[in-house]
Amino acid sequence: MFEKILIANRGEIALRILRACREMGIQTVAVHSTADADSMHVRLADESVCIGPASARESYLNVPAILTAATITNADAIHPGLGFLAENADFAAMVEEHGFTFIGPSAEHIRLMGDKVQAKNAARRLGLPTVPDSDGAVATIEAALEAAQRIGYPVLVKAAGGGGGRGMRVARDPDQLRNAYSVARGEAKAFFSNDAVYLEKYLTRPRHIEVQVLADGAGGVVHLGERDCSIQRNHQKILEEALSPALNAGQREEIGRTVTDAMREIGYRGVGTVEFLYEEGRFYFIEMNTRLQVEHPISEMVTGIDLVREQIRIAAGGILGYGQDEVRLTGHAIECRVNAEHPETFMPSPGRIVEYHAPGGPGVRVDSHLYSGYVVPAHYDSLVAKLIVYGATRNECLMRLRRAIGEYVIGGIETNLALHRRLLGNRDFLDGHYDVNWLERFMAAERAAG
Ligand code: ADP
Repeated sequence: MFEKILIANRGEIALRILRACREMGIQTVAVHSTADADSMHVRLADESVCIGPASARESYLNVPAILTAATITNADAIHPGLGFLAENADFAAMVEEHGFTFIGPSAEHIRLMGDKVQAKNAARRLGLPTVPDSDGAVATIEAALEAAQRIGYPVLVKAAGGGGGRGMRVARDPDQLRNAYSVARGEAKAFFSNDAVYLEKYLTRPRHIEVQVLADGAGGVVHLGERDCSIQRNHQKILEEALSPALNAGQREEIGRTVTDAMREIGYRGVGTVEFLYEEGRFYFIEMNTRLQVEHPISEMVTGIDLVREQIRIAAGGILGYGQDEVRLTGHAIECRVNAEHPETFMPSPGRIVEYHAPGGPGVRVDSHLYSGYVVPAHYDSLVAKLIVYGATRNECLMRLRRAIGEYVIGGIETNLALHRRLLGNRDFLDGHYDVNWLERFMAAERAAG
């Protein structure tokens, strides 16, 4: 087992990884930007190294500084967390070349799944159902028009290197496609330095359902059931549930088996998530994330498996040691992403936390780096906390969530907690009747009602 792990990340996820390390008796090294000097993960780590100024490009994405920090602190392994360098295949390779263990999948698997066009081709070869698409990148508007004709409108223009819901545009006819094509390409270039885009059939009312997998690279592969992440704004997840209210046990078992077979076939190692759209009883693969995800805690709650601990254990050469039959899915869990943002404009709301009280009691888990007096910096993602609630049934979980949100006090900044509270008053949400566009419709109806 590793003696010391460097955590190449910040915020709540750095803290989450630190907690797993501490429970495993592993020393931790925090790296941080100047803006994060007072961050909770830095305070709690055994050692810390400042790796650059506030700008993520010069700190959390600064590979030489991170490798130097690992060298001077004599770390054995580097955990990339999520975001930043977590899905950067070159980084994973460089970590290993410098003699450290990268806590994650092989660089080869990260590279394969990092390009959505390649990933979809691989998915097809592996027998996963996919959304009809342009069969590769479309290099010209003519090629895009031709592909759209074949697929049938509406179509979605997507960035091959995309992520975080960016570089995506819907087109309902050729005129809209001309515009969507150039906008998506521009966005793809700006965000991902890769202007390759492709076309997909745009599904109008799908749910986003993803399967959590865990594999040891030596034939041991299990799934931890699915998560329903259909509550989204701008294609970004806001609230997630495990298990999905839309699936029955048979469908769950079938998609789970399809995914684990595919992962076994490619010799996948580590944690990963295979994402699907689900419409009218059918699954369509959209992408795979080769890392821990923000919403991983709800899978932990319904299985009792600590995904970060398993990640570390597998990276250290451990085998899974249990099969699918031993993974028991019980109860229901929901995660609310608490973002520091203005409730109406959704503009980021950084600033000092003047009052803080996290909810507790049965079935409540809060993953957050906030504390009273902490200043939320303006330079990073607006996620400041994850409120995770477990119940024996979905109904108990919903009641508990309502209670927990009521207890949560975050003073000094604006957050989206009120939106989560309002969701819990909506019949469709409570009944589990929603799709990926439902939240936008809900908010539009709220605005219309004034
Ligand atoms: P990203 O990597 O940017 O998160 P994804 O491919 O995972 O992009 O898609 C994010 C979300 O965008 C999905 O959950 C869904 O809401 C929407 N989406 C993606 N592909 C389609 C599609 N073909 N039809 C309808 N909605 C889609």
